[in-house]
Amino acid sequence: MIQIAIDGPSGAGKSTVAKAVAKKLGIIYVDTGALYRTIGYYVRSREVDPKDSAAVEALLPNISVELKYENGTQIVCLNGENLGDRIRTPEMSLYASAVSAIPAVRAFLLETQRDIARKNSVIMDGRDIGTVILPEADVKIFLTASDECRAMRRRDELLAKGIQTTYEEVLADMQKRDSDDRNRAVAPAVAAEDAILLDNSGLNVDESADAVIRLVEEKLGKQGTDR
Ligand code: C5P
Repeated sequence: MIQIAIDGPSGAGKSTVAKAVAKKLGIIYVDTGALYRTIGYYVRSREVDPKDSAAVEALLPNISVELKYENGTQIVCLNGENLGDRIRTPEMSLYASAVSAIPAVRAFLLETQRDIARKNSVIMDGRDIGTVILPEADVKIFLTASDECRAMRRRDELLAKGIQTTYEEVLADMQKRDSDDRNRAVAPAVAAEDAILLDNSGLNVDESADAVIRLVEEKLGKQGTDR
């Protein structure tokens, strides 16, 4: 079993790179942000303030979040329903970030994440994978890029999904979310001490994926990745 942790701020290209690496190595890609987005979605649907930790915590017993794979693609179900792209809106990014600062929410999602990594070789992306979820991961990478570069990528991603937005809006939302994620008391989004830092500002997706695969091969040895 291999465990690869990819952490870093939003828009660094973690998911695109992790998907490419998963495909190349024949392992599972786990997008943990989708779990927080799913909780955020439920909180929004109940019209609860995502910053009200007591109110959010009181909702948790009503929530079942399940991670599934269909043809290698991750699906997250909320009480049995696949929410698809409904969790991908800018509003859900902010809800996810707000609920993710609540310790009870993080505790609620901990086992789902560890369980999938116990049963499968994984590349898992998030904010606290190398520090909290998989502290013994074989390879830890902290992927980042300049604010401008990340905001541009995020804007293009949203526009491609038909979500109207501007560079300025994306940049402002992203900087607020990153600062909240970095400065929260529980599981702040920081690099693990033994993580390799990779700034992919000047790299495209293929180059970033290649750089990560090289790092993984260096760390695990070529045989480790030939599975
Ligand atoms: O990765 P993504 O942008 O989908 O994550 C949405 C939000 O969920 C992040 O801004 C962060 O607040 C939270 N998150 C987290 N820990 C993770 C993954 C995501 O706190 N492992």
